[in-house]
Amino acid sequence: MATGKINVSVDNIFPLIKKFLYSDHEIFLRELISNATDATLKLKHLTSIGESKVTYGNPLIEVKIDKEGKKLHVIDQGLGMTEEEVKKYINEVAFSGAEEFLNKYEDSAKDAGIIGHFGLGFYSAFMVAKKVELITKSHQEAPAVHWSCDGSPEFTIKKAKKEERGTEIILHIADDSTEFLEEGKIRELLTKYNKFMPIPIKFGTKTETLPKPEGAKEDDPAPTKEVDNIINNPTPAWTKQPTDLKDEDYKSFYRELYPMQFEEPLFHIHLNVDYPFNLTGILYFPKLTNDLNIQKDRIQLYQNQVFVTDNVEGIVPEFLTMLRGVIDSPDIPLNVSRSYLQADGAVKKISSYITRKVADKLNSLFKENRADFEKKWNDIKIVIEYGMLSEDKFFEKAEKFALYPTVDGNYFTFEELQEKIKDQQTDKDGKLVILYASDKETQHSYIKSAQAKAYEVLLLDSPIIAHLMQKLETSKENISFARVDADHVDNLIKKEDTQISKLSDEEKEKLKEELEKTLGEQSSFTVQLEAMDSQAAPFIITEPEFMRRMKDMQKSGGGGMFGMGNMPEMYNLIVNTNHGLVGEILNTKTVKKKERLINQAIDLARLSKGLLKGEELTNFIARSYEMVK
Ligand code: ADP
Ligand code: MG
Repeated sequence: MATGKINVSVDNIFPLIKKFLYSDHEIFLRELISNATDATLKLKHLTSIGESKVTYGNPLIEVKIDKEGKKLHVIDQGLGMTEEEVKKYINEVAFSGAEEFLNKYEDSAKDAGIIGHFGLGFYSAFMVAKKVELITKSHQEAPAVHWSCDGSPEFTIKKAKKEERGTEIILHIADDSTEFLEEGKIRELLTKYNKFMPIPIKFGTKTETLPKPEGAKEDDPAPTKEVDNIINNPTPAWTKQPTDLKDEDYKSFYRELYPMQFEEPLFHIHLNVDYPFNLTGILYFPKLTNDLNIQKDRIQLYQNQVFVTDNVEGIVPEFLTMLRGVIDSPDIPLNVSRSYLQADGAVKKISSYITRKVADKLNSLFKENRADFEKKWNDIKIVIEYGMLSEDKFFEKAEKFALYPTVDGNYFTFEELQEKIKDQQTDKDGKLVILYASDKETQHSYIKSAQAKAYEVLLLDSPIIAHLMQKLETSKENISFARVDADHVDNLIKKEDTQISKLSDEEKEKLKEELEKTLGEQSSFTVQLEAMDSQAAPFIITEPEFMRRMKDMQKSGGGGMFGMGNMPEMYNLIVNTNHGLVGEILNTKTVKKKERLINQAIDLARLSKGLLKGEELTNFIARSYEMVK
C-alpha cells in the first residue's frame, strides 16, 4: 500500500469546489457518467483499431444506490486504468492549473460553471461525497488498483481484487447531500442529463411481461422476467442521417423529447454540419400562440449527447428560441458567461448557420406545397415576423415566403401584393397604401367601406406587426400601411377628385360648434368636417395611424415613443357634410331634438367602432326605444 499527496498546493481544495460550484452540485453525476462514457468509447476505438486485445462486447454503465451504506456507485466496463494511469490522470492532471485557475477567476468561477474542460470533472464528486473510492482494472495486463480519498489532499492507493475490466467509482455521500441516495432524485438526474448518452445506462431492473407460452389457459398469468432498466436512448434521431429517418421517426423523437406535449409539431429541420464547426440537431416548429413569453427555453443544448442546458439564449438567434428541439455541438464554449458567448466567433457562425437553415427550410416548404404552407401560416407567422424584425439576413430571405393574408383568406407575398393593388391603391403622390385590419369583427364596417372601393384589406393581427410595418415602410420605397379605421376611406388613399361640399363655410362653422358643445369639453374626439360621397356614412370615428401604431408598439415592447403608453386614446369624429342627416341636424330648430339627433348619430358611430359601453350604451338603448316608439 502506498500513500502520497495529491499534487496541489492549496491546503484543501474540496471546500473550494463545494463553494464555487454549489448551485450546480447535481452535475457531479453527469461528470462521472461522462467519464464512464469516455472510457467505454475509448475502448471501443482501441479494439476497432486493434490496439486492445479484449473483446468490446456490449458494455453498460451502471448506477447503483446503496441506501444503507450511504453510497452511490457508478460502474463502467470501459478501458480502466493502470496504477500509473491513476497516478497520472487522477492525481496530477486533474489538478493541474486548478489552483491557479481558481485564484485567477475567483469572481467569475461561480457563474462560469467551470468543470470538465479544466479537468475538474472527476473531482466534482466531492461536491456531494465526503469520501471517494475508485477501483479500476485496465484492459491491459495489469493488476487492479484501489484509490481512495477522503476530501483532504491525502489519498491512498493499493492493489485491488477487481476481476472485470473497467472502473467503479464509489461515492460516500456526505450528510448534507443525502438527497442523492434517493432513487427518485437519481432517476430525475439521469433523465435530465443522460437521456441520450451513447452508452446504455442501467439503473435498477424492471419487470417485463413475456408472451404466454403456447397452450396456456385464458386466465393463466403471463410470465414475467426481470430485465435491466436502461434509462437512455443511445442513438437519438439527431445522431442519424436525415435519409435514414421518416417523418414518423421525427414525430416520435419529438414525443420522446417532450412527453408532456400532446400537440404534434408542424414540421422539423434537421441540422447537420461538420465544417467550419460541428453541429447536429433537429428543430421543430410547434404551434405557437400569441403569447411570446411562455414559449422560451425549450430547445435543449447537448454536447456529444450530454445534456448541457435548455437555455440557448446567445447561441440560437432570439427569434428561434420559440422553436423546440435539440442542438448538439462540441464547439460551443460552455464554461463562459453569456455575454462572452455572444461575442464568440464560432457561436456567431453557428447562430447564422441556424438562421440560414431555417430560412432555407421555410422557403422550400413554401415552394413545394404552397397551400399547406398557407394553412400553417397562422401558427408560424410569429416566428417569421419576429425573425424579419430582428435579423436583417432573415428579413432578406423571408421576402420570398413571408405571407400577407387578406381578410378574405387569400395569401400574397409582398411582391404579389404590390402587383395586385398598385392600380387601385396608389395615392395621388405615387405612394402605395396598404390597408389592413387587425380584427375582422370589430372593424367590420371599415373593412366593408374599403372593399366597396375595390381595395384589398389585409388581416394583420400579430402582437409585433406594428414593428414589422415600421420596418417594411423604411426598407421599401414609397409604401405605407394604414389600418382601415385610421381615417375615412377617401382619406386613407387620397386621390385627386375632391368632393364639393354642400354646406357653406358659415354652416360648417355653426355645425362644428354645435357638435363640440354636445360632445362636451372632456371629449376625446376631434371633430373634422369632410365633404364626402352622400352615400358614405354621416358620422365615422377614426383612429389616426401614427399615434395608434406607436401605442401598439409600446404595448408589445420597445420601439415606440417614450411615454406613449400613458397617452389617452385619441379619435377623430369625421362628419360627412354631404350626407342628408347632417343637413337635417343643421336645420333642426328645436334644441332638444337637435341634441338628440347629434347624440344618436355619434353613438351609432361609436357603436360601429366598438366604443359604446357601460352607461353610455344603456342611455343609447333607452334613447333608441324612445325614438322608435
Ligand atoms: P476530463 O474528463 O475532462 O478529462 P476528469 O477530471 O473528468 O477530466 O477526468 C480526468 C481523467 O481521469 C480522464 O481524462 C480519464 O483519463 C480519467 N478517468 C476518469 N474517470 C475514468 C473512468 N471511469 N475510466 C477511465 N478513466 C477515467
Ligand atoms: Mg470528465
